[in-house]
Order: sequence, then C-alpha cells, then structure tokens
Amino acid sequence: MSHTRHFASDNYSGVCPEAWAAMAEANRDHEVSYGDDHWTQRASDALRAVFETDCEVFFVFNGTSANSLSLASLCQSYHSVLCHDLAHIETAECGAPEFFSNGSKILTLPGDNGKVRPDTVENAVRRRSDIHYPKPGALSLTQVTEVGTVYTPAEIAALTETARQCGLRVHMDGARFANAVATLGVAPADITWRAGVDVLCFGGSKNGMALGEAVVFFNRDLARDFDYRCKQGGQLASKMRFLSAPWLGMLKDGAWLRHARHTNAMAQRLAAGLRPIPGVAISYPVQSNSVFARLPGTTGRQMNDLGWKFYTGVITPDESRLMCSWDTTPEDVDQFVADLKRLV
Ligand SMILES: *Cc1c(COP(=O)(O)O)cnc(C)c1O
Repeated sequence: MSHTRHFASDNYSGVCPEAWAAMAEANRDHEVSYGDDHWTQRASDALRAVFETDCEVFFVFNGTSANSLSLASLCQSYHSVLCHDLAHIETAECGAPEFFSNGSKILTLPGDNGKVRPDTVENAVRRRSDIHYPKPGALSLTQVTEVGTVYTPAEIAALTETARQCGLRVHMDGARFANAVATLGVAPADITWRAGVDVLCFGGSKNGMALGEAVVFFNRDLARDFDYRCKQGGQLASKMRFLSAPWLGMLKDGAWLRHARHTNAMAQRLAAGLRPIPGVAISYPVQSNSVFARLPGTTGRQMNDLGWKFYTGVITPDESRLMCSWDTTPEDVDQFVADLKRLV
C-alpha cells in the first residue's frame, strides 16, 4: 500500500489551513514590497504580543539563514560559538554560520539527550584565555533539541546565567520552538528574554507554514543593520507579505500552539504504540514531536519497502527518526504501529 503521509520530517507536511488562509488574504490587490507592508507590520506586532515585549522582528526564508545571520550579529569573526555536538548549526548548515560571520568558529560540547550543560559551557570558556583561542562569544541552544528533548525553564535559566557570567550572548535555534512551548506550557517569554536569551530563530516551516522563520531580537541593540545582513545574504523577500502574513494566521487564536500540541500528542501515541513491540528501543525521552527508536532486525528497511518514509542513521547508524507533523493523524500512527507489529 502507499502512504500519503510519512514520518520522515515535519517539513514533509503541507501548509496548515490557518497559514494558507492568511496567504490567500494577503494575495488580494497590490501591496508595498520589501517588508514595508501592513501584513509585515501586523505580524511583527503579533510576535511582540506573544513575547510580551518590544522585540525587533525579521522574516527570512529558512532556518539556516535565520541561525547564520543572527549568529553573525552576535559575534565578531574572531569569536567562537558554543553549542552541542549535534547542533544543526554544526551538523546541517554547510558552514553557513561560519561563512556569514566571516569565520566565527563553532566549538561543540558533549551532553546527554542533546543538551549542553552549564559546567561544560563554563569549562570551554575558562580553559583558555590566551590570544590563540577563538574567543567564546555566544552560546547557542537548540529548543527543541536535535533529539527531540526539551530544555526545562530551570535548565535554560542555569545556562543563561553561566553565559552571563562568561560574557556570552545567547542564541536560541527554535526551529521547533512551538513544540517546546506546547510541552512546557509556559509563557514564551519565560524561556526566552526573561531567561536571558538575546535572539530567537522561531521556526515557521516545521510548525505548518509553507516556509519562513522569524528572527526575534530581544536585545534590540544586536539587531542594528540586520536588515542589511538579510539583504546581502539573499534573505530580503521582495514580496515580503507572503513570508509574514502566515504568521498572523498562525498566531491568531493560538493556532501555532494547537498544531504543536497535536503534533506532540501524535509522537506520544507513536511512542506508546512502539514501546511494547519486542526488540524496539526508544532512544531518548519523548518530549516533543519526534520518536527516535531502534527497530528490530531488518524491520526498518521492510517498513521502508512497505512505503513508509523515514530516516535511519541521523544520530547513530541503527536509530530511526520518526517525526510527526501538524497533519499526522492518529490513524497514520496506528497504521504504522500495526505494520511494524506484523513484521515483528
Ligand atoms: C530544520 C531545522 C532548522 C532549519 O533548517 P532549514 O532547512 O535551513 O530551514 C534549524 N535548526 C534545526 C534544529 C532544525 O531541525
């Protein structure tokens, strides 16, 4: 049988109705270009309302540019960026953060469940203070992490406190920020600026938009000339309203959180279905919209042969990554589990 939805990535999904409707609404008549339109103004205001602060907002096409350009704003070329070994900025952005910052070096840190710890951050800063070491300038946290875990507010507070003591600015890669907020049930402000985060790359694509991420500067000084960086980096959309209007649809009536909660619930359902199957081992705590699991024997490949698309070997060679998205249904999950059970 062939499946119409898969567990390969949350970016396999289409556009959710709220984002689609906002695009359609923005598609009437003419509008001012390059971000000087009222959709972009209103979407920025909506983000300021969600974060309860007067932050500076920019809309870019994707996460790689959001991360790279914002890190370039936090660092000089002689600085380094501390992040987890598995961080997307290190493993999946083709060197863009280094490129756009003219050479700021990424220094990776180990840590269980995809998380960095205050002691390893502090050690990376304190172990060298000489002129030959790339001066630590920023700490980058991924929330949700690359293995689907979520930093608690206390963990974020401890890390940002260490960053403050060490003179590091704090960047948050929030490609799945919505899923983290849904899991934690906190005010978005509490795990960002109130905790000392300087800039957040807030993911739209994986939350149900066609494309686009919002770069949210809580520290407005760091946003100076960011519009020029975006333009030079090929990230200034001339028809900006189509990047910004979907945010209005997502933020109105909490659609972004509704989708994230649903997505997280589908991952919980999937984990609950997989756990009792003999030979299945779930690798990390399931705290957002992904389940990483070892599937017994050759059943992973057999599932692929049945038409299920998902990745194996993203983190370790024999681990499969199963991602739920806003349009994953309980029936999709149950069918996947039933198919695997049959093979085992
Ligand atoms: C998907 C993702 C991004 C953004 O990737 P793009 O393909 O550049 O949009 C950034 N960080 C993390 C952790 C991601 O999973």
